[in-house]
Amino acid sequence: MKMAVVSIREKIEKGLYHSKIEYPVPRKFRGKCPGCDTRYYPPESDSVKFCSNCGQSLRELLDRQIEDRKAQRILYFEDRKRLEEEFKKDLFTDLNLVGHPKAELLYAKAYQLGQSSGYTEIYNYMIELEDLIR
Ligand SMILES: [Zn+2]
Repeated sequence: MKMAVVSIREKIEKGLYHSKIEYPVPRKFRGKCPGCDTRYYPPESDSVKFCSNCGQSLRELLDRQIEDRKAQRILYFEDRKRLEEEFKKDLFTDLNLVGHPKAELLYAKAYQLGQSSGYTEIYNYMIELEDLIR
């Protein structure tokens, strides 16, 4: 069996450091009335809503969806954190910085400079800055 060595750049290009978990955006917030199956697209709101068709309270439905979204958001951020750790691990391995006492410091700087443009820029900054700690 052949070992597949995938470079960091390839992994970035293939989106392998990006979470597959969807961020729960408010516009996904919707549901069916538990009483009569009327479809609702309620706004995220703390005010109690009632079904205009059968009068059933939609409170529980809204609460459940708010809870689901909270849980989904936690999963999303945990997954992102996991993937960033994987990226960092790959990066340190790639640049031969595993165990280097200043690797984390360098990463923090590269992250600060590059994160708004994504992983490629963080990688580029790491390469640019690594001489500073050699
Ligand atoms: Zn209803």
